[in-house]
Amino acid sequence: MDYLLISVDPDEVDAERRKARELKRSPWWKNQLGKGLCAYCGGRFSPAELTMDHKLPLVRGGKTSRSNCVPACKSCNERKQNHPAQEWKVLLETGGES
Ligand SMILES: [Zn+2]
Repeated sequence: MDYLLISVDPDEVDAERRKARELKRSPWWKNQLGKGLCAYCGGRFSPAELTMDHKLPLVRGGKTSRSNCVPACKSCNERKQNHPAQEWKVLLETGGES
């Protein structure tokens, strides 16, 4: 169980953050936002209310890729950040809070 102990090179995290800024300008991302759906709660939002979320956080070794980046509403994004990754994963697998 060293999942939470993975250490990621800060330079690599910076590089992935830069990539994320580029990805946000891409037609692909604008298309994702245009769908207006939060990937976590499934709620409908205007594109301005959605943020880019890394399913596997960069600090845990996640990458800025189309498969790892999803639109999330602000409340899901905040909720996710308040959870240790594993706890959040359990929430996702069980379909969220009951
Ligand atoms: Zn949401």
